[in-house]
Amino acid sequence: METALRIEMPEGAEEIISRLKGRGYEAFAVGGCVRDSIMGRTPEDWDITTSALPVQVKEVFRRTIDTGIQHGTVTVMKGGIGYEVTTYRIDGEYRDGRHPSSVSFTSNLREDLRRRDFTINAMAYSHETGLVDAFGGLEDMKAGRIRCVGDPVERFTEDALRILRAIRFSAQLDFSIEDETLKAITTMAPNLAKVSRERVQTELTKLLLSPHPEKIRQVYDTGISPYVSEAFHRLNLENLQVNGRLPKKKHVRWGVFLKDASGTDAVQILRDLKLDNDTINRVRVLNQWINRPVCPDEKEIRRAMSAMEPSLFDDLLDIWEILGKTEEEQEQAGMRRETSGIIRRRGDCVSLKELAVSGRDLMDAGMKPGKAVGAMLQYLLSQVLEEPEQNKKETLLALAARRNEFSGPDDGG
Ligand code: ATP
Ligand code: MG
Repeated sequence: METALRIEMPEGAEEIISRLKGRGYEAFAVGGCVRDSIMGRTPEDWDITTSALPVQVKEVFRRTIDTGIQHGTVTVMKGGIGYEVTTYRIDGEYRDGRHPSSVSFTSNLREDLRRRDFTINAMAYSHETGLVDAFGGLEDMKAGRIRCVGDPVERFTEDALRILRAIRFSAQLDFSIEDETLKAITTMAPNLAKVSRERVQTELTKLLLSPHPEKIRQVYDTGISPYVSEAFHRLNLENLQVNGRLPKKKHVRWGVFLKDASGTDAVQILRDLKLDNDTINRVRVLNQWINRPVCPDEKEIRRAMSAMEPSLFDDLLDIWEILGKTEEEQEQAGMRRETSGIIRRRGDCVSLKELAVSGRDLMDAGMKPGKAVGAMLQYLLSQVLEEPEQNKKETLLALAARRNEFSGPDDGG
């Protein structure tokens, strides 16, 4: 089915399509970029599908990269942007529930569209032909519906990652999942065990970064959570508060999602899913602070500030503000922000970096090198967090000497 409809494409994509056509091949923009354009979203990248074989694509364009030549994909560079150009393809049998054991090329666009996961992702477009919508993608899009192309049980059996993609798209687009597709998700849930944890994580992270991260609940409602990770499944979602107003940052969304988990469970889940260490460390800190009833007084706020990087503390302020349910909680959040502003403007010391003495200074004053030096710096910082006016070299060295019985500041010449 072809529909007259005009989609604005980047020049590079237009040029690739018209060059291929000029050589007698068919070529279309396809998949996510068509979906997003029709919905008024900005596509991340433009994929092109063509009847030309990879060697033929390489004959047409000077600058190409063999991205996945065995799957028919060649990247064509245009104006510094890479476009993936893939030959019309039929996926062979799926043996491992994730990857086709072979692919074969076809000259029929419809066959290529049939292998795609959801109807809204199975549309192609070119200026000449207009929209090619063989499986009712436009209608599903208008109805706000995620529906598999063909039999959903079969499609999820072929590739279990599609189970999570369905839920992820429903969160990104605020769509519902069509009944048969939804039933098949529940039936096929155990197959998710065959998918690499990295891929599971990528989908869950995209879901959490979407405008509707609360839809992560569907992962539980559909019965797939046990196949994400054991600790993930055990999470208590009673007070799930992750929402689309939170900053779009990985550690913020994961941190809020995991805020009611113990620190150990939170880290376990992130490790299970192979999240990067930076994110894990930030979530670990957020997990300790999000639910803490921090008084907006200066000492407590300095303590909170000293526990993390300034930018993470800013995220925490945003989180507190956005999660505040009652007027009182909102007010507390506002006061915490205000107090931290005062502390920053005044330049109070809230980290070892800002402390008026260094480990070097302590050793010069007679302290033996070793672990005790670090512990002493921590002690001095804790004192300075209580009373910022103590952050002077002489004062701190005297404090250290009193505590540690070393010679202390030089009192003679
Ligand atoms: P996004 O880029 O936002 O993740 P997308 O729809 O562009 O969304 P991609 O992973 O970039 O998704 O894939 C491009 C297209 O390839 C999809 O629109 C879909 O047609 C097809 N596709 C991707 N992954 C699968 C899959 N696992 N099974 C079937 N078709 C898929
Ligand atoms: Mg894409």
